[in-house]
Amino acid sequence: MLGRSLTYDMVVIGGGPGGYPTAIKAGQLGMKVACIEMRGRLGGTCLNVGCIPSKALLHSSHLYEEAAKGWGPHGISADNVKMDLDKLMKHKAKTVTGLTGGIEGLFKKYKVDYFKGKGEITAPGSVAMHPMEGGPAQTLSTKNIVIATGSVPAGVPGATVTVDNDAKVIVDSTGCLDLEKIPEKLIVIGAGVIGLEMGSVWRRLGTEVTVVEYLDRITPGIDDEIAKKFKQILEKQGMKFKMGYAVKSATNEGGKGKLVMDPVGGGATETLEADVILSATGRVPYTEGLGAENVGVKLGARGMVEIDDHFATNVPGIYAIGDAVRGAICSVYTLPQRSSQHRAQPGWLCARRGREREGRWCGEESLYARCDV
Ligand SMILES: Cc1cc2nc3c(=O)[nH]c(=O)nc-3n(C[C@H](O)[C@H](O)[C@H](O)COP(=O)(O)OP(=O)(O)OC[C@H]3O[C@@H](n4cnc5c(N)ncnc54)[C@H](O)[C@@H]3O)c2cc1C
Repeated sequence: MLGRSLTYDMVVIGGGPGGYPTAIKAGQLGMKVACIEMRGRLGGTCLNVGCIPSKALLHSSHLYEEAAKGWGPHGISADNVKMDLDKLMKHKAKTVTGLTGGIEGLFKKYKVDYFKGKGEITAPGSVAMHPMEGGPAQTLSTKNIVIATGSVPAGVPGATVTVDNDAKVIVDSTGCLDLEKIPEKLIVIGAGVIGLEMGSVWRRLGTEVTVVEYLDRITPGIDDEIAKKFKQILEKQGMKFKMGYAVKSATNEGGKGKLVMDPVGGGATETLEADVILSATGRVPYTEGLGAENVGVKLGARGMVEIDDHFATNVPGIYAIGDAVRGAICSVYTLPQRSSQHRAQPGWLCARRGREREGRWCGEESLYARCDV
């Protein structure tokens, strides 16, 4: 990259489903564009530690469960069906790298300059790129900046839950996608889509799964009747639910997970134990170190970047998209549709095109748990 001009029409900060289609579309439109990603791989949460690896595990675990239990009534016997977790994880990793590598290929094709580092807005039209491998920051000058920094797992409100994915006892979704052995018992905090998907994966592989939820229903935001039916189906499949409990703490007690919780309606404190406890209480926008305060980009509740209906922030020339802005945490909402009168805006144009590319994922897979709902 050194020796080349570091002046761009657009700099995109974040290479997830918000950022990478935006950068590609800008390249297709003939803009000089750069994308800065600090993960070391393109594709963001979705491709690396979200939609794709979770669906890979859901698919593999479904095949295993079918072969182990589901074929008998059809007269097909498959004795001694075994799960090799190491191979399963390798298959998942290969699925991920195939896709993330594909985006790098598209970046090359459409002449998007890819910087591995952390982007910090230092002034309107100026982004400091702090390289991953260390060393001095490079300044990228640009007409347009697109914030696509995504989201990270939320904490459990009012509780002491310290996630340590390396220790593999108290984990978030990233850690739960990467367990090295099949736990005997798993507790999932939160009956949202991510928690239920992860719970389904491990239950199919033989884990006893208990979901602890504050509310009296699962999958908030989804139609009541569907949620009710969905819970019945999951229960029939063997998943257990503790509804109406407020988690107070989840701790690693010498390699075992201990969860303390209070019934929301009053009553005695209860304790559960498991090999692994998954904290899955949603996600919050990620804007740490972005430099929003350097230029006065307005952040709203929970650090969400505020935008108008054209993806524009309050600072001219700075746009935002994806999980970092309002709307559902979901790849498809990362790329909302806008009316034709806004097509002239670079941020909008790229975003809309992205939606066409990504739209199928959410509809097909956001409630991927193999049931008849
Ligand atoms: C387990 C799981 C399963 C999911 N399943 C689905 C599903 O089936 N369907 C669906 O539609 N959605 C799903 N989602 C949600 C989906 O992953 C997100 O909605 C989507 O990834 C949001 O895209 P984004 O580009 O806004 O953010 P992200 O994908 O989070 O990407 C943002 C990127 O920006 C980078 N970044 C942040 N700050 C900086 C900075 N300052 N400089 C440089 N880089 C930076 C981050 O490293 C990250 O790679 C799932 C999420 C999880 C966790």
